Amino acid sequence: MSIYERWGVRPIINASGTVTRLGGARMPEQVLAALRQAAEHSVPLDVLQAAASRQLAEQTGAEAGLVTGGAAAALTLGTAAILAGHDLGRMERLPDCRGFPHEMVVAREQRSGYDHAVRAAGARLVEVGFNEIVSNAGVRRTEAWEYEAAFRSETCGVLYVHAPHSQPPLVEVVEVARRHGLPVLVDAAGELPPRRHLRDLLAAGADLVAFSGGKAIRGPQGTGILCGRRELISSAALQMLDMDDHPQLWHPPEDLILRERVAALPRHGIGRGLKVSKEEIVALLVALELFTSGKYDEQLPLYREWLEAIGQRLADCPATCRLAEPAQPGRWPLLEITLATGNPVSAFEVCRRLREGDPPVHVGHGRLADGKLVVDPSCLRDEDVAALADRLRTELLRARGTGGERPNTSPTRQRP
Ligand SMILES: *Cc1c(COP(=O)(O)O)cnc(C)c1O
Repeated sequence: MSIYERWGVRPIINASGTVTRLGGARMPEQVLAALRQAAEHSVPLDVLQAAASRQLAEQTGAEAGLVTGGAAAALTLGTAAILAGHDLGRMERLPDCRGFPHEMVVAREQRSGYDHAVRAAGARLVEVGFNEIVSNAGVRRTEAWEYEAAFRSETCGVLYVHAPHSQPPLVEVVEVARRHGLPVLVDAAGELPPRRHLRDLLAAGADLVAFSGGKAIRGPQGTGILCGRRELISSAALQMLDMDDHPQLWHPPEDLILRERVAALPRHGIGRGLKVSKEEIVALLVALELFTSGKYDEQLPLYREWLEAIGQRLADCPATCRLAEPAQPGRWPLLEITLATGNPVSAFEVCRRLREGDPPVHVGHGRLADGKLVVDPSCLRDEDVAALADRLRTELLRARGTGGERPNTSPTRQRP
C-alpha cells in the first residue's frame, strides 16, 4: 500500500513520461537521500543559491544560475529581471510596467499556455511571423527580420521557445536582438536530453535559459533552472529571495547578488511567491550531477527490454506495435501502438478506459487523433511492466468487439 492511499488517492501506472500533470519524474535514490539530508540543517538561502549558481555555471557554461520553482517560475523571474534590472522602483511595481519598456517579441508560432508565466511578470507579448506550413497557405515560417521589424522603444527583450524544429534558428534571433541591445530569454523546459542543450543554447548567445528540474533531470517536480548572464540572475535572485533583514546587516553573497547595483535593500519582489526550499535546491543539484554524468543512460537498455516485452504481449491484439527510435542522444525509444482500422472503439476511448480501469494506466496521449497510443518507459517501475502489458492487452482486445458501448470501469470489474 502506498502512502497516497491514506488519503484515498490511487497511484497510477505512468506510461506517459515525466509530464507535469502526472507528477513529473520519479527521483532517484541519491536525490531522495539528498532531500532528506538537506532537511537536517538550516542554511541561509542566499548562500545556498550562490553555491547553486556556481554549480549551475559550471554545468551549463553560464555566468550564473538560480534554482527556481519550476521552469515556469524561471520564465517569470527571467522576465522580471529583464523588465526591472536593478531598478528598485521597477522591482517594487511589477507586474505594473507603466512607464518603462515591457514588450517581449515572440514568434506567433512559439506561443503556448506556458507564456502566461512571462506575462505574469508584467510583460506584454508582441507576436511576429506566421507558420504558413501549418496553415497550409505557403512554405514559409517566421523569419529573423520580422523580429527586428517589431523592435521599438517599448521593446524590452525577446522570448524564444526552443523545440527540435523551432524556426528561425536561435542564433539568427540572437543576432538581430544583439544588434539592438535586447536580451533573449529561452524557454527550454522540456529540451533535455540531449545533455548538450544545457550548454548549447547559452553558447548560441541566449541571455537567459529556463529548464525544468522535474522532467528529465529527475529532480523534485517543483524545481527549475534559470541560467545565463550574471547581471540578470542577480536581479532574478533579488526578486525571488526573502528580503526580511535589516539594511545595515544585509550582506548578500557577492557571486550571486551584485550588491553595488542596488541603491538599497529591496522589499519582497514579484518572485517571492515562487520560492524554493533548501531541500529542493540540494536535491536538484544532486539530480543535475547525475543527469550530466550520463548515469541515466544506463537505463536505456532496460527501457528497450520493457517495450519489447510489452510489444510481444500485444502480438494477438488488433493493433500494430512499433518501437520508435529516439531522435536525440540520451533520449529513449517509445512504443507506438496503432489501433487497427475498423476497430469500433477509438484510441481516445481506449485511452479513457485505460485511465479509468484497475490499476489506472496513463499512456502518452499526443497522437490519439492518429489512432496511436504511446508508451513512454521513463517513469515506469520494473514492477509496473507486466501489469501495464496486461491492461493494454485487455483494453485492446475489448476495442475489437464491444461496439462502442460504455465500458464497466468500476475498479472491481472482471477482466474478460
Ligand atoms: C514543462 C514546460 C514548462 C513548465 O515547466 P515546469 O518546470 O513544470 O514549470 C514550460 N515550458 C515548456 C515548453 C514546457 O514543456
